[in-house]
Amino acid sequence: MRRKGVVIKFLSNMAIVQDFETGEEFLCKLRGKFKEQKIRPIVGDIVEYSPIVSKEGVIENILNRKNELPRPKIANIDQVVVVTSLRKPEVPLQILDKYLVLVENAKLPAVIVLNKIDLLTKEEINKFKYIYEKIYPVYFVSAKTKEGIEELKEVFKNKISTMAGMSGVGKSSILNAINPGLSLKVNDVSEKLDRGRHTTTVIELMHFDFGGWIADTPGFANLDISHIEHEELKRLFPEFNDFYCLFPDCNHVDEPGCGVKKAVEEGKISKTRYESYLQIYKQLLEG
Ligand code: GDP
Ligand code: ZN
Repeated sequence: MRRKGVVIKFLSNMAIVQDFETGEEFLCKLRGKFKEQKIRPIVGDIVEYSPIVSKEGVIENILNRKNELPRPKIANIDQVVVVTSLRKPEVPLQILDKYLVLVENAKLPAVIVLNKIDLLTKEEINKFKYIYEKIYPVYFVSAKTKEGIEELKEVFKNKISTMAGMSGVGKSSILNAINPGLSLKVNDVSEKLDRGRHTTTVIELMHFDFGGWIADTPGFANLDISHIEHEELKRLFPEFNDFYCLFPDCNHVDEPGCGVKKAVEEGKISKTRYESYLQIYKQLLEG
């Protein structure tokens, strides 16, 4: 009897598949046919498997991937939850915008979480809300006081998510608040070693007790944007696409008749977002 599950991690050559319905984990071998075909299962794959003996089975088939991230290698991500804070640490909006650019470039849906709202005034929260809420879903939480945590559970429920955000913004604390006992690997040392040695980061999906999965390693950890073409950048600021420019290939820098610059002057596009755009554009242009 074939069942459906998700590959949550690998143990040498065996995959651990978690059953969709029961949540049970099965140590699965791969059918011989995967050796001839080019496709190999990766973490996040939705698979059909046959249980053989207790807790063991065989992967029969990999369902079509809806997407695939290269580093760390993971399939079927539903959303990237970008966590940031405005105090302790004060993360510049430009850094948040860079994460958002990377998520857009990977063609994945982004959700923003502003954590540590216990350290902020209403005005500070509203200012942030005003900039981002018209572009992305935004959640305001405090992992410390637990404000906004219940609503956040709904965001993660029954999805495969990955988190992104600078170290110290509270990613692990948020996971622990929504599902006590879960904790994200926050290991800057191993990250740095990995980068130096070009080893691959081992990734694993953790299951929320209310349903859904989270990758245990934050995505886009090194904020590397160098693979993005400078002419492509404008498409990664979704709110720019609502405006028309005299030149169809306008890069919104100093071209005449630029609808985006006009929208910034009229307050229809946030100044800070446009400034982030210019800064990242310049950086990409300089290579
Ligand atoms: P990560 O590196 O993003 O995983 O961040 P951590 O979860 O390790 O949190 C970094 C620090 O921020 C820890 O000392 C936490 O106790 C603290 N912290 C996390 N969330 C909050 C919050 O909502 N409010 C306050 N005041 N501190 C928090
Ligand atoms: Zn323009």
